[in-house]
Amino acid sequence: MPDAHRLRGQTHTTHSSHSSHSSHRPALPPEPYDVERVRTDFPILQRLVHERPGRLGKPLVYLDNAASGQKPRAVIDAMTRCMELEYANVHRGIHYLSQQTTDAYEAVRGKIACFLNAPSRENIVITRNATEAINLVAATWGRTFLEAGDEVVLSVLEHHANIVPWQLLQAEKGFTIKVVPCDERGLLDLDAYAGLLGPKTKLVAITHGSNVTGTVTPAAEIARLAHHHGILVLFDGSQTAVHMPVDVQAIDADFYIFTGHKLYGPTGIGVLYGRKSVLHQMPPYQGGGDMISAVSFEGTTYRPPPYRFEAGTPPIIEGIGLGAAIDYVESLGRSAIALHEHSLLERATRRLEQIEGVRIIGTAPDKAAILSFVLDGIHPHDLGMLADQMGVAIRVGRHCAEPLLARFGVEATARASFGLYNTIAEADALADAVLAVKEFFR
Ligand SMILES: *Cc1c(COP(=O)(O)O)cnc(C)c1O
Repeated sequence: MPDAHRLRGQTHTTHSSHSSHSSHRPALPPEPYDVERVRTDFPILQRLVHERPGRLGKPLVYLDNAASGQKPRAVIDAMTRCMELEYANVHRGIHYLSQQTTDAYEAVRGKIACFLNAPSRENIVITRNATEAINLVAATWGRTFLEAGDEVVLSVLEHHANIVPWQLLQAEKGFTIKVVPCDERGLLDLDAYAGLLGPKTKLVAITHGSNVTGTVTPAAEIARLAHHHGILVLFDGSQTAVHMPVDVQAIDADFYIFTGHKLYGPTGIGVLYGRKSVLHQMPPYQGGGDMISAVSFEGTTYRPPPYRFEAGTPPIIEGIGLGAAIDYVESLGRSAIALHEHSLLERATRRLEQIEGVRIIGTAPDKAAILSFVLDGIHPHDLGMLADQMGVAIRVGRHCAEPLLARFGVEATARASFGLYNTIAEADALADAVLAVKEFFR
């Protein structure tokens, strides 16, 4: 396969992305994606696993990127630098360091806005993770505007983070939750979706990419149909913002959500994009410092969005790290990353399809680089544990998406998910591990 040759053949080439040549030369064509060079940016990929006295470790084949991404040196260094040299609390201080840190932190908000092609940095609310971003929408917009008799449309593809917050609010408000089904490939049933929309529907909250089947949903079409009825749309972009270019204006999202740690950034930071007119209708989320204009015991006034939703000291160091992660991903190019990951997905899919007894869960034509599967007669946990012994880290279980697993009639699956540093050889290592596990149980 040509891709394999290309990727492997580059193991020993040197590469410089920071050209020292004069800048008035015509732009060079984009360099081929050099995954071996990319790998050197990630310290953790150099380590071995299962090392013991007297036993050599195994190289790490990290295929659990849908759960969390590893961190490049650029992110680690930016966070370290922040703590060593540029750290103080933000927004309140008039002293030099506080202003410097505030500038750096607020610049990240602008970076996130560019990353999503949001109209401005005021559209960007910083949260602790994707889960909190969805809970924030439920607690503010939902608690204000949803009531008994209303309907909220979710899909069977959802992560629990986009189910349970709505159920918690439902218990309080008594609205109805409707669920868009998917077909055997994991594709959303758009006709059924259109049929669910009506005068009672107030919100559509649907994933932009499933963390189990990898299905990328037709966000622009979903939004268009909802907006036709004046219904707001929230997209859970936890699996898409990290793997492909996302343009919240092109898809016309009212809310768009992602999480920092899956974007090769730190834990403890997530993002809520909101349409300005909608954010301005929403009451505060949590109360405290930073979100107020003026406080007195007679009455308190709140700052405009996004600060109204950001009570207390924000994740400053994590923000700096997320900014560095965005820079890093953009330096490689999201389209180039998507292409690379797609070649890995294709290779792994083709190899697994050839193994008798493998059933792949999720075969939509438009997929993120996520490969869920079950193996006839072998429990996913046994498969995962044995693969781990070979150094291949995959996830097994329900992937926080129990309704979707029920839809496919499985209790659990194995899931390999690829990131920007994975190689064709690692896609092969996955298939070889599955073959070895089959052999073990024969
Ligand atoms: C990971 C994930 C989430 C939750 O992200 P957190 O960082 O745990 O809040 C939500 N939705 C999807 C689709 C995910 O993959």
